[in-house]
Amino acid sequence: MEIIKDPKKIQELTLNLRCSEKSVSLVPTMGYFHKGHLSLMRWAREHSDIVVVSLFVNPTQFGPNEDLDRYPRDFERDKKMAEEVGVDYLFAPEVDDIYYPDHATWVNVPKLSQYLCGKSRPTHFQGVCTIVLKLFNVVNPNIAVFGEKDFQQLVIIKKMVRDLNVPVKIVGRPTVREPDGLAMSSRNAYLNEKERKEAANIYKGLVKAREWVKNGQTNSETIIAKLTEWFMEHIPSGEIDYIEIVDQENLTPIEEIEDKARLAVAIFLGKARLIDNILLEVKK
Ligand code: AMP
Repeated sequence: MEIIKDPKKIQELTLNLRCSEKSVSLVPTMGYFHKGHLSLMRWAREHSDIVVVSLFVNPTQFGPNEDLDRYPRDFERDKKMAEEVGVDYLFAPEVDDIYYPDHATWVNVPKLSQYLCGKSRPTHFQGVCTIVLKLFNVVNPNIAVFGEKDFQQLVIIKKMVRDLNVPVKIVGRPTVREPDGLAMSSRNAYLNEKERKEAANIYKGLVKAREWVKNGQTNSETIIAKLTEWFMEHIPSGEIDYIEIVDQENLTPIEEIEDKARLAVAIFLGKARLIDNILLEVKK
């Protein structure tokens, strides 16, 4: 595996690879790898000739009071893990290599960015879209792989790519979980022992809600009220940011589930803000 810091170098390299008919996959990440990241890399390994993983803690997707400075980092460990799954290039630029001091261009998908996480993180998805499009332009992938754990992000990236005719196929992959159900996340490192135990109840609550829907409860207000109560009892150290049931494509709230919907939650727990989501399906 080669480590590349210079965007111009990876750009030239991947352009040449594409000219010689090689398929290139990109897995964009902020590092501090866990099995969720590795599952995306493995998928890319199986489906393309060349796998590029980008490792960049993107400052523009963090709000002023968020965790940019303390975001967990361990480059040596990440390097080893990426190498073990057969990544070809680890693209790990510095902030100054990516953003000009007078960077002035932003990519926005405003409609989809106003819901869910966008309410408490108003500039987050602008930062995400901008860095992802920049990475696409630098790495020239034909495939880019994202996790369903960040469901809103996946929906927004798909829309951006469609609307701007970006020649990249977006692949979404299922959420990888700890044995107790907690969605793997670099931010789980912020949790103390007590919080970590309570955090497992996020997914347990989502699974309960999925069961309620299967058993005939289709009114979102009722489901959200029940789940709020359940979370307050089982995650006493947490504070709910949102619990919402939304349309899977346009992310608008659904009042009455008729077929499929996405239940998405964000919970503040200790120093972390944890997100998760699950598919709800009405039994027909
Ligand atoms: P991050 O480094 O947190 O920005 O995540 C990089 C990519 O990994 C994103 O596409 C995430 O959606 C994905 N990802 C993060 N956690 C998981 C997980 N538990 N399972 C699957 N994919 C994940």
